[in-house]
Amino acid sequence: MYRTHTCGELRIENVNETVTLSGWVQKARDLGGMTFVDLRDRYGITQFVFNMETNAELCEQARKLGREFVVAITGKVAERESKNSKMSTGDVEIIAEKLEVLSKSALPPFTIEDDTDGGDELRMKYRYLDLRRSCVRENLVMRHKMGIEVRNYLDQLNFIETETPVLIKSTPEGARDFIVPSRMNPGEFYALPQSPQVFKQLLMISGFDRYYQIVKCFRDEDLRADRQPEFTQIDCEMAFVEQDDILNTFEGLTKNLFKKLKNVDIDYDFPRMDYATAMEKYGSDKPDIRFGMEFVDLSVIAKGNDFKVFDEAEYIGAVCAEGCANYTRKQLDKLTDFVKRPQIGAKGLVYVKYNEDGSFKSSVDKFYSAEDLQKWAEACNAKPGDLMLILVGDKKSTLSQLCELRLEMGTQLGLRDNNVFKPMWVVDFPLLEWDEDSQRYHAMHHPFTSPKAEDFHMLETEPGKVRANAYDLVINGVEIGGGSIRIHDTDLQAQMFKHLGFTDEEAKAQFGFLMDAFQYGAPPHGGIAFGFDRLASLFAGIESIRDVIAFPKNNSGRDVMIDSPSTIADEQMVELGLDYRKE
Ligand code: ASP
Repeated sequence: MYRTHTCGELRIENVNETVTLSGWVQKARDLGGMTFVDLRDRYGITQFVFNMETNAELCEQARKLGREFVVAITGKVAERESKNSKMSTGDVEIIAEKLEVLSKSALPPFTIEDDTDGGDELRMKYRYLDLRRSCVRENLVMRHKMGIEVRNYLDQLNFIETETPVLIKSTPEGARDFIVPSRMNPGEFYALPQSPQVFKQLLMISGFDRYYQIVKCFRDEDLRADRQPEFTQIDCEMAFVEQDDILNTFEGLTKNLFKKLKNVDIDYDFPRMDYATAMEKYGSDKPDIRFGMEFVDLSVIAKGNDFKVFDEAEYIGAVCAEGCANYTRKQLDKLTDFVKRPQIGAKGLVYVKYNEDGSFKSSVDKFYSAEDLQKWAEACNAKPGDLMLILVGDKKSTLSQLCELRLEMGTQLGLRDNNVFKPMWVVDFPLLEWDEDSQRYHAMHHPFTSPKAEDFHMLETEPGKVRANAYDLVINGVEIGGGSIRIHDTDLQAQMFKHLGFTDEEAKAQFGFLMDAFQYGAPPHGGIAFGFDRLASLFAGIESIRDVIAFPKNNSGRDVMIDSPSTIADEQMVELGLDYRKE
């Protein structure tokens, strides 16, 4: 028998029992007369004692154990003299009687401890060792629980989990597809799904009524910390629903997950903010509302004092940092450098200190009197002791620069606590988005999203102004999910494709099956997809989704452990009909 108990199980009640445990040697300490071995498995760590006096031979064996050896040890449970309250098994130790080495281990390239000496790249190359560390494993256990809770919740609401194919044809969700060549159909390719979008819509036409799937999706995009080429979604669709039904259902799911996984009660309705307001007040469609510091538009009141930079600007926006009037020259310079970084791209930063004594000190004192600045302070709701930070320029870029500045100030002032959760819905997204490169409109969400009925009349004349029945769930400034009410009418869908620049033939070739399906009784329907990895990282309180994925890829989309992507044999290339010739 390999084990009677796990390494996290034994307590004072077990004293005098003879037990066998199996696991990995965390460490062996040789103290001359005695050797202590800490044995680790997924459940915990248990201490074994080998005594030179009572069993010299066994003790010699124990001394030879290296880190990460896999062993089975039998012995008698005893009460410890010096207890360790930090360990769940810290009241006991096991007096070893028998030791069997099940597997030796080479010296691991980094220590298997929470506070490891292994760097990122090394840990990824030996991810199976990294996963032995409890802090890494715990994130994955949490992820597992999240999956169970999602399934329980949606099951209880009559959702049916349905698998959809992975080898499909391209779906337009805005990113590039991963492509798989078809051996049996030379010159033809499958695409991996960016999402099961069209399939879930077809399932609604099939009368499934409520569908969900915890599903892998694939997008060939440039990677960032919170992106992986393959990622997991909680993908859902419902029939006979309006936007409110979806928001309420998934608000319920979100609250339930907070309760079950974090023991956090969210006993209020998630605020709903329209896209236009989010952009105007936070410069982002995913505002972090853990703190205020909303933008104030000074474009009208700050002009007309012969300060060219302001007078010529399309937009002048301010944020008010509470209690920061005492910022030093150095701190302000640092903030200026921050906004001038190429990633942010502001030309400069104007500051106005509203001093405790009611006086003002600003970087534009040459142009503005205390009275002028007083007006700004009123607009910003600033009090003595506050600092106003102002950016100017064209509206679109200035809003997004101000967004970065606001987030930076929020961080500096400790207003973005990982243990505070502020979910919200952003609604009424624009239907279309102008793309400079291709000089045409793209669907902001995807081409199956329905326009708002009241905006419909602008589709021909001012397409950019049409709002969609589209929504995002945002938590702490992170987009956790998004979806829309779909078009369920062939004519409207055809019109939509036209606006997106598809010819009739192209639309038919790519989406003929969906248009056909619409002709056989399509119910009104809509849905949403949550980023499972992002939600997991939010619950785990970590920034990167990599840490909640067992075998993630690095920033260049590589799996450094299995070394993929990789080249394939020439014969394989030929078999796949890929045009490949060796130089
Ligand atoms: N398919 C969409 C996405 O992946 C979600 C949805 O519209 O339901 O973002």
